[in-house]
Amino acid sequence: MAETMLAERFYAQDRSVHLEEIPVPHPGPGNVLIEVAYCGICHSDLSLINGTFPAQRPQVTQGHEASGTIVELGAGVTGWKVGDRVIPSAGRPCLRCRKCRRGDFANCLHLNLMAFAYDGAWARYHEASATGLTMIPDNVPMDQAALLADAVSTPYAAVVHTAQVHMGNAVAVWGVGGVGTHLVQLAKVAGGVPVIAIDLDDEVLARAKRVGADHVLRSDDPELMSKIEDLTHGRMIDVAFDAVGIKPTLRAAVESLDVNGRAVSLGLSGQDIDAGPFMDFNLQRKKVFGHLGYYGQDIAMLAEMLSYHRLDLSESISEVVPLAEVERGIADLEHHKNNPIRILVKP
Ligand SMILES: [Zn+2]
Ligand SMILES: [Zn+2]
Repeated sequence: MAETMLAERFYAQDRSVHLEEIPVPHPGPGNVLIEVAYCGICHSDLSLINGTFPAQRPQVTQGHEASGTIVELGAGVTGWKVGDRVIPSAGRPCLRCRKCRRGDFANCLHLNLMAFAYDGAWARYHEASATGLTMIPDNVPMDQAALLADAVSTPYAAVVHTAQVHMGNAVAVWGVGGVGTHLVQLAKVAGGVPVIAIDLDDEVLARAKRVGADHVLRSDDPELMSKIEDLTHGRMIDVAFDAVGIKPTLRAAVESLDVNGRAVSLGLSGQDIDAGPFMDFNLQRKKVFGHLGYYGQDIAMLAEMLSYHRLDLSESISEVVPLAEVERGIADLEHHKNNPIRILVKP
């Protein structure tokens, strides 16, 4: 194996990004070395570059949505072997906070995030903790596997754990970019009927329709609520997702709800939450949930769903860029070039 490898490096000092030859890591105890197949470009990667997300280290390799093959085992690693195709976990529990001390690692208060607190996978190789790995079934392609590490698992956890979409629930999704498109697909798999996609952009609405939305509506339609009423035959919405995270979208999501309906907010912005008038909210016993992240086991379940063809993510890979052109991929995501769902980096 070569001694050095190409890697993208983020420098906190001037928030610049560079391609560099750096030493190939040797996996420490409990870790494995993965040859990276694909690694997605996520909005949170942009957030580090534009300063929205504070830097945690002076320099770090970015990229946290990866798939790859184990090429070396660190000391003490059991249950994994060289050649296994895996998805590394995008975070490591801190092992120190009050949650970790009680063994509640999934709810760690100071999760060390891959590509923020330690080196990510926009590189030829990535050193990962063996405890966070998910095996990729043989018939699942590596590019789709890379999507499971956040882009699909976060919407999955929102649908299954936070919203608990049940068969027959009427579902509406505000904002059908990357997260919203997967919400539409997963809510439908969970039994949502009808599933309504809502956005300002006709192109992404057409895509939402292609991946399974039963109906699409424009969020600026003055008749939006009465159209939702018609489409649901007066039932209104049982579960509304706001994948945008701004006042008007959450407020509309809550307004669309049936009595006892649930709105789940996934978008991140600095705005205050507005759930509409207290009178309506309380009289109709509406609920609003905040959502972030997923459990490690969710990735394994999604891998199984891909393996059994319960889910098709072929539309989700918008572009593949070689590592040497990662900056072009970052720019394409930043400028929403062709409304990408996921741009993948191939080292
Ligand atoms: Zn991500
Ligand atoms: Zn912790």
